[in-house]
Amino acid sequence: MEKKKEIVLSGIRPTGFLHLGNYFGALRNWARMQYEYDCYFFIADWHSLTTHADTKDLKVNTRRLVSELIAGGLDPEACVIYSQSDIPEIAELYLYLNMLAYRGELEKTATFKDKVRQQPENVNAGLLTYPVLQAADILIHRALKVPVGKDQEQHIEMTRNFAERFNYRYGNVFPLPVAFSYGGELLRILNLDGTGKMSKSENPMNTIYLNDDDALITKKIMKAKTDQGPAVENMQKPDYIQGLFTLLRLVSESDVVEKYESDFNQCVIRYGDMKKQLAEDMVSFIRPLREKAQNLQSDPAHIDEILSEGAVKARKSAAATLLKVREVMGF
Ligand code: ATP
Ligand code: MG
Repeated sequence: MEKKKEIVLSGIRPTGFLHLGNYFGALRNWARMQYEYDCYFFIADWHSLTTHADTKDLKVNTRRLVSELIAGGLDPEACVIYSQSDIPEIAELYLYLNMLAYRGELEKTATFKDKVRQQPENVNAGLLTYPVLQAADILIHRALKVPVGKDQEQHIEMTRNFAERFNYRYGNVFPLPVAFSYGGELLRILNLDGTGKMSKSENPMNTIYLNDDDALITKKIMKAKTDQGPAVENMQKPDYIQGLFTLLRLVSESDVVEKYESDFNQCVIRYGDMKKQLAEDMVSFIRPLREKAQNLQSDPAHIDEILSEGAVKARKSAAATLLKVREVMGF
């Protein structure tokens, strides 16, 4: 009998265009994992309500996101792609897990504190319990590996805590999942002024999207923050310079990276030249992804079909878990 593959789960909010952080932090791993694991990838439309209450564009945004995910390497034949809102089982598990999550730990979560700062006028309960819904997303498939960027590490740790509490109180249903990235290190792609991570829902000039055209990519990179250059040899790079080197390493040839590393260390680096090279390589990297995503969007019925087939498979897995949950809880 064929050995059962480990289960993998990850998701993304339909809150804007995919950017380099989503691609290198998450999608690139997903595209590789789909051939090695039993993979579920979902559009986190319920999660988007915590910050984007308006649902008018949700459908269009969801289709666009699915197109971008496929353009970035997901193969609907090799993994399950679905919308969170198509799986009501997740909401029921969220309810049970909420009874095991404490106000203190939720209020301490880094992403919650960030959002409170960003949207003080809308600190809704969904925002507070975001990590609980995320735990339900993961545990509903009894997933073991969760490929995410660095910003999600704390949420995965909370998921393990909720799962352990559930197992201890009611019976062993859930394996304890771990955050995953090939190479071991979870990635955090900085924005272009080095002040935080690239994000879908922040200053668009500071983030490079897979949908940006050649001119816009070039413009953003040429405007990226730099300075006079290093003052002493082999000094540590400031965040905004480190961020540019990280991007260079991801899209340029290694001899190019080595040249600029060595120029930096010897204090002879010309950031203008480096940014021109980075812009050129970034344009070549993004162009095929952008074009493929745009082509896919010309057939929305096909995308809807992928999502409805995905929903059938995801519900089957979710229902099996929920049956076990109800059984051990005595419902
Ligand atoms: P939003 O601002 O709406 O929250 P986001 O860009 O943070 O959007 P999410 O949908 O929250 O994107 O996250 C999707 C995946 O992308 C997650 O696995 C997350 O860890 C990863 N990710 C997001 N931003 C980055 C980044 N800058 N570097 C690395 N990974 C990232
Ligand atoms: Mg986010």
